[in-house]
Amino acid sequence: NLAGLNKIEPYCWEIPAVKGEMHSPVHLYGSEPLLASMDEKVREQITNVAKLPGLVGAAMTMPDAHWGYGFPIGGVAAFDPDLGGIISAGGVGFDISCGIRCLRTNLNLADVTSQAERLANTLFQRIPAGVGEEGALKLSILQLDDIMLGGAEWAIRQGYGVQEDLSFIEEHGRIHNAIPANVSDHAKKRQHGEMGTLGSGNHYLEVQVVDRIYDVDAARTFGLKEGQIVISIHCGSRGLGHQIGTEYLVSLAKAASRLGIELPDRELACAPINSPEGQEYLGAMNAAINVALANRQILTHLTREVFNQIFHDSILETLFDVSHNTCKLEKHKVDGKGRWLYIHRKGATRAFGPGHPALPERYKEAGQPVIIGGSMGTGSYVLAGISESENKAWSSASHGAGRAMSRHTAIKQWRGKELIEELASKGILIRTKSLRGAAEEAPGAYKDVDLVAEVTEKAGLAKRVAFLRPKVCIKG
Ligand code: 5GP
Ligand code: MN
Ligand code: MN
Repeated sequence: NLAGLNKIEPYCWEIPAVKGEMHSPVHLYGSEPLLASMDEKVREQITNVAKLPGLVGAAMTMPDAHWGYGFPIGGVAAFDPDLGGIISAGGVGFDISCGIRCLRTNLNLADVTSQAERLANTLFQRIPAGVGEEGALKLSILQLDDIMLGGAEWAIRQGYGVQEDLSFIEEHGRIHNAIPANVSDHAKKRQHGEMGTLGSGNHYLEVQVVDRIYDVDAARTFGLKEGQIVISIHCGSRGLGHQIGTEYLVSLAKAASRLGIELPDRELACAPINSPEGQEYLGAMNAAINVALANRQILTHLTREVFNQIFHDSILETLFDVSHNTCKLEKHKVDGKGRWLYIHRKGATRAFGPGHPALPERYKEAGQPVIIGGSMGTGSYVLAGISESENKAWSSASHGAGRAMSRHTAIKQWRGKELIEELASKGILIRTKSLRGAAEEAPGAYKDVDLVAEVTEKAGLAKRVAFLRPKVCIKG
């Protein structure tokens, strides 16, 4: 039901700003079927975001949006610190800097098909995944402080990966202004055995084959061709990130109340970026970003070890590493003038267009690689950032297919064991410690990723480069 929405572009609907309540209108990117099937809560949540102080431009949702804590997943909003702009833990998400690392390989489908069982079993054995699973590294609080400052750079110093990886990670693998002192001992302790682990639920390590190329030039630049094997690693900042989210929700709520910020929803606890609490959260969040970058770097290393064991002379290069749960300071054009804004992207991917100074030299012309997860049974996409997205969405795009139903509903519809057998019969090997988790993550519980990717392109947020079909998936 699209009543109350104004279609302002072929793939964008607006909720007009209510004077005195909202600072800006809401822009919902999508198509008629995507928006019609989106839970109502998304509109309510993003409308509440449009009421928060210091918002610049529209509060937005990406085509894959669904209900989340406070902000919808797929929500994007920019705030100006000089206008009292806020930062919100619910606008980043609990899994701070959750994201996807994509590796391209020199292997092709035939290489993997003949070794698929062995590859699946070895990856499952070597990649710690699932609730309570610990990694080989056991870290002290002091070591964790180094990781919080050093990110993927730290991991590479420890021998997990190569210098070259850093060029293809956002922030070159290490975000500045991380403040480990703002992270509680409890949060650090939770991370003790969790570095180099995938986590549970929808986190995964997936071996995929490039099944279709949409943009030949960009694909060449990204080093992708049909039939090639790539690997996607989806995970975040683990227990540490979650603990930061949980703790700062409380301190940000207190700040909001102390400063008389009216919260349209308690879950939108926030503080001005320029307040002590806002700055404190920012420092802790940046520390968690570095933890996530280090985590994906260690997992990259473990993946290389497994591939080297099974395939002689295999080469796994980082195509790109992009986070989709962040709040980042970026310069954007507003009415023709450059302004520094804090961009919340929760379940949304940064998608810088060609020429952006943050891009690695190799991708300067092609635009930033944007990685969209789909599901373990359908597929995923690599897209490229385009200039158009800067004016529309602060250079942002979708991050996945997005859930079409809750986990609770999904486990009533699917049985993990049957699902895994069915996928195996289609040549997709799933390895997981949780059959219930597999049912929660059933491909049918997600939106149609083909549609989401197509609409992301048609809406002018990013352009499709390649479609990736799953072969082996290690599920958290
Ligand atoms: P989120 O970051 O919101 O937790 O998840 C990102 C996206 O990953 C989801 O919207 C979904 O489309 C996708 N996804 C979840 N599980 C899998 C999986 O096993 N394989 C792939 N390729 N994508 C998945
Ligand atoms: Mn994620
Ligand atoms: Mn996550």
